[in-house]
Amino acid sequence: MLSSTQTDDAGMAAPSPWRLFRNEWLLLAGALLLICGLTAYNLYEKHQTLEKRERERLAGQAQVIHDSLTRQFDSVNRALLNVRDEWPASRLQDGSVASAVPRLKAFVDAMPGVRGMFILDATGTLRAANFTQLIGLNFSDRVYFQAVAKQPRVDTLYLSPPFRTSLDVWAVNLVRMIPGPRGEFAGLVAATLDPEEFKLILRSVNYAPDVWSALAHANGQLFLMEPGRPEKLGADLAQPGSLFTRHMEQGKPASVMSGRVYLTGESRILAQHTIQPAELRLDQPMVVAIGRERQVLFAPWRAEALARGGLLGLLIFSTASGLFLLQRRKLKAQRQVRQAQEALREKTAELQHYFDFALNLLCIADFDGRFVKLNPAWESVLGYPPRELEGKAFLGFVHPDDRGRTLAALEQLRHGHKVVGLSNRYRHRAGTYRDIEWQAVPHGGLIFAEARDVTQERLDQQSLIALNAQLESQSQTLRSLAFLDGLTGVANRRRFDESLQTEWRQGLRNPTALGLLLLDVDYFKLYNDHYGHQAGDACLQLVANALRQHIGRPHDLLARYGGEEFVCLLPGTDREGVQAKAEELRQAVMALGLPHERSPVARVVTVSIGFASWIPTDHATPEQLLLAADAALYEAKNAGRNRVRGAPTSLAPASDHVPPGG
Ligand code: GH3
Ligand code: MG
Ligand code: MG
Repeated sequence: MLSSTQTDDAGMAAPSPWRLFRNEWLLLAGALLLICGLTAYNLYEKHQTLEKRERERLAGQAQVIHDSLTRQFDSVNRALLNVRDEWPASRLQDGSVASAVPRLKAFVDAMPGVRGMFILDATGTLRAANFTQLIGLNFSDRVYFQAVAKQPRVDTLYLSPPFRTSLDVWAVNLVRMIPGPRGEFAGLVAATLDPEEFKLILRSVNYAPDVWSALAHANGQLFLMEPGRPEKLGADLAQPGSLFTRHMEQGKPASVMSGRVYLTGESRILAQHTIQPAELRLDQPMVVAIGRERQVLFAPWRAEALARGGLLGLLIFSTASGLFLLQRRKLKAQRQVRQAQEALREKTAELQHYFDFALNLLCIADFDGRFVKLNPAWESVLGYPPRELEGKAFLGFVHPDDRGRTLAALEQLRHGHKVVGLSNRYRHRAGTYRDIEWQAVPHGGLIFAEARDVTQERLDQQSLIALNAQLESQSQTLRSLAFLDGLTGVANRRRFDESLQTEWRQGLRNPTALGLLLLDVDYFKLYNDHYGHQAGDACLQLVANALRQHIGRPHDLLARYGGEEFVCLLPGTDREGVQAKAEELRQAVMALGLPHERSPVARVVTVSIGFASWIPTDHATPEQLLLAADAALYEAKNAGRNRVRGAPTSLAPASDHVPPGG
């Protein structure tokens, strides 16, 4: 549909894709950030929970070791006290101390954690032991001996630093001083703790393959480690910043820490517990540690985090690329729509241009009989600018006499038929009517029509018809003038010659008599001489008029043959009829009573007539018929004039008479 108001959005620059899609990207980024955040938080929570649980569990296990060792120490302490009570300093000097040996053996057998028990005197000499082969040897150089000898305290349970035994195992001694009578150092009773027994305890708390547990002396020396790492035993853990040092520095009996283990270089969660039961009065505590390797502990968490991270990455990639592709498609579609709109605009503009500049009248109307759109060409036809006509009922402009025809055409269009050649008159603004010729087609609920103003054409046509008629009559006149005699108004010689031939041929086809008579004014030279040439002309006109009165049948022809001679052609008239007609004519001329003073035969103008009537045959010619009539006229003249003479009914023998006018 052609539109006169065009929306001009072509001039607007296309918005940049970023501005168009920013919100979509922001929304996606927001959603993805939320998902990432939730996932990260969830993973963090899990990590925390896992770590917390593990810390609690490790602390619990450390506590188990602590309790177990405390009990162990407690029973060893009781055994030591028992021995000291029974073999006080007084008995160290006599041989009665040897009696302690069975008791020591019994204790060692009864306590699975104790490898050996022995008694040293103040000099460091071994006086009694469950193993008898070393009795008498001196051990005063040993650290545990020195520790007690230097700071002898009756109520203290001494814990020796770890040492390597003669059997090449690491061990510690729990030692009790044996006081002399004045409380001085008199000797000691000691128990060597069996590392194998502790190993069992440590092993029992190792609940995962990566767990290890260890025992260290308060001085930092590693005493036992399970699973066993013999090369590490004896190492000094009391390094600055080590987990051991930190535990010791914080001064609390139990701690759980996370960090790099000095000994192994692993990153671990380490629960440490200082074993120093108050009731035992240990001079030096022991420290138990149990740890899990973070790497192993968090491996499933890391796997899950990786998997979820991967999924998130996939989600981000797929949604982002999906959105990107979607937007690219959208952009492409928008571009195509813009191109199509542009093409449509161009086409519409072309059509509008065509519509505006068409010389023919273009019109769109609706079925309610209203103009919808008209092109500017209408203004010159109806005198209104198109927009004044648009929306108006077109029937109001149609001549009342043409409305029926116009309504019929509208009805035809309503039924979907094309209308061609409708012609009606439209009223111009000035009140005059213009002839319009139409063709129209219905389409899409509207009528598309093309029309032509044929007013001028019609006028031209009418004047052409009139002109034609005029020309026709003029040429008719000219034609008849060519066949008329100028003086008398009757047919001329040429006309007569043609008619004679025509009638002769007609007579040949349809054998009827063809009558012919020649008529000559008597003594007309004398008339002219007497009355003058003009009077002669007038006389000839009067004679012709008189003759015309008597030649009335349609096919009869009166012609001036030349000079003062006339000829009559009378088709279908036999000899008698021609003769009668000749006589009638002769009398008619006489009856005119035109005075002719110098005529020898009468006092008035008279004529002589020769006639013939033949049935045309192939043996004769029309010229011969004429000659026969002329011969008869000659006879009439000779016989005295003012009379009628007839030629024979058929062809006479050749005569030397020359035909008139020749
Ligand atoms: P005849 O009785 O033998 O016919 O005698 P005539 O004088 O009529 O015959 P002629 O042929 O000797 O003369 C014919 C005359 O008719 C000669 C001529 O002056 C005259 N004439 C011929 N045509 C015209 C004409 O158109 N007007 C006038 N006024 N005279 C004419
Ligand atoms: Mg003559
Ligand atoms: Mg004459």
